[in-house]
Amino acid sequence: MVEETKGSVMLEEGWVQVKVPVPFSLKWVNSYLIPEEDGYTIVDPGLRTDEAIRVWDEVLGELGLRYADLSRILLTHQHPDHYGLAGYMQQRSGAPVYISRRSHAYALRLWSENSTFAEELQRLYAEHGMPSELREAIGANLDTFKAMVSPQPEVAYIEAGESMRLGGRRWQLIDAPGHAKGQLCFYEPERGWMLCGDQVLPRITPNVGVVPGEGGDPLDAFLRSLSELRRYDVTMAFPGHRDPFADFGGRIDELVQHHERRLDRMVELLSEQTLTAFELCETLFGSRLRENPHNLRFAMSETLAHLVYLERRGRIVPAWADGVCRYAASAR
Ligand SMILES: [Zn+2]
Ligand SMILES: [Zn+2]
Repeated sequence: MVEETKGSVMLEEGWVQVKVPVPFSLKWVNSYLIPEEDGYTIVDPGLRTDEAIRVWDEVLGELGLRYADLSRILLTHQHPDHYGLAGYMQQRSGAPVYISRRSHAYALRLWSENSTFAEELQRLYAEHGMPSELREAIGANLDTFKAMVSPQPEVAYIEAGESMRLGGRRWQLIDAPGHAKGQLCFYEPERGWMLCGDQVLPRITPNVGVVPGEGGDPLDAFLRSLSELRRYDVTMAFPGHRDPFADFGGRIDELVQHHERRLDRMVELLSEQTLTAFELCETLFGSRLRENPHNLRFAMSETLAHLVYLERRGRIVPAWADGVCRYAASAR
């Protein structure tokens, strides 16, 4: 059976899962249409591409809806595959856009006209051993996203700790950092439903990466968030990619184990030889990534997040020479 990667799926309570295509290996992002008294809330409308807009036109047509029926746009987080179409949808519907303050700050930092994010990222990767032609390819790839998140929406802020009504029920807003600083998950205790953005995904491990200028320890933030989310009684989770799934707790356990294995593997590799983050990244993810700047960026930032985590726990030590950092496992 070939899996459908675009179009709509009817869920319980009148919810509609809309698979919005994205032009990279994730295949699609999930948007959810949630029926309200005055129309629909739309969660994470997708990335702005011609194909995504075509799918939306089709899906709304099939459901007998117009853009004006979208009464509210809700964003779990700021990544372009979720946030990109928000401004376009707002222009067509007049709907308010809700996002956390932190997520919005990040979106502005990345996608504003005078953003220096691509340069900051290239500088970080240079310090960690990535060759210049690959850094430049990543910078050029990042630039292509600007059109896919335009226009930027006018937003109103929602924050963790608050609650809001969605589909006639009351949902709790939960801070879920690590994959994206500022990301919110939404939990409805009566049915045990969790809208989890990209924090917990079935079949894919959410990317956890170092973001220049943010500091901190993103993998630690991610693992702490997972252990907090593990305490919620969830019967159905609605993720940002792939399909809704029931075993939320089991999936969290798998993700934690995945990162523990990766951390151990990295220490093992660094006890055999001293490596830059880039060399380690290629050892872990393969040199085929050189052909795909988008995936290389994710892999490199993910490698750095694990290195930060290990360094902070004294399991590895950095050594700088000629402006480049190399890591070795700590002597036991
Ligand atoms: Zn994301
Ligand atoms: Zn995503």
